[in-house]
Amino acid sequence: MNRIASRLEVLQQEIAKTCAKGSIFQDNVRLIAVSKRQSAEKIRQLALQGQVEFGENQLQEALSKMSQLVDLPVKWHFIGTIQSRKCKAIAENFDWVQSVDRIKLVDKLATARKPQQKPLNVCIQVNLFHEAQKAGVKPEAAKLVAAAVESADNLSLRGIMALPPKQMDKVVQRRQFEEINNFYQQLKQDFSTMDTLSMGMSGDFQQAIFAGSNMIRVGTGLFGERS
Ligand SMILES: *Cc1c(COP(=O)(O)O)cnc(C)c1O
Repeated sequence: MNRIASRLEVLQQEIAKTCAKGSIFQDNVRLIAVSKRQSAEKIRQLALQGQVEFGENQLQEALSKMSQLVDLPVKWHFIGTIQSRKCKAIAENFDWVQSVDRIKLVDKLATARKPQQKPLNVCIQVNLFHEAQKAGVKPEAAKLVAAAVESADNLSLRGIMALPPKQMDKVVQRRQFEEINNFYQQLKQDFSTMDTLSMGMSGDFQQAIFAGSNMIRVGTGLFGERS
């Protein structure tokens, strides 16, 4: 088995162990392989190993890889900052966009998504801890953005995505993830199509899973360091 295939196996075992420890049904936790700044060849190797969902944060880079991998049944998640002039290409080429954080983007994405395509799956990126340097809608404005997605044609409102502050202390980290989950559960009461809580990366996905994440986004922990 090649190196990346064995990394996937190790990661899946770690996810399984974490789910067992938290009494969580493992099939409910989806793994997004974050392939930004990784080669199309590595993506191919992982896809051949059964990994289906990949995350990218740069449009041009992603489009180039997509064109090299059209023969594979992969699904693409856009997880990066969205510039409004890129909405059209994002809506046309991705299956999910996890980083929607303002209403202006919602209209542009909805207009660009072709009616003959499946609806574009959308997560609202929430900056729950009001970190100045981070993208994401402020929690108090999340409902407005979610409502816009819910009522837009060709978009499917799926949930929220969050990147909590970097945190060394596991207890604090767990508490922050739980706060995000609480916020998500509250929002879900108003938006019944929501079923996705996207949180947890290479360094913290175990705590995220314990706190209720059902979509983790792992890059370096799977591919190794980025170029
Ligand atoms: C890069 C990135 C990840 C993956 O980070 P790793 O630490 O490499 O696992 C997850 N989510 C987002 C939004 C990212 O930009």
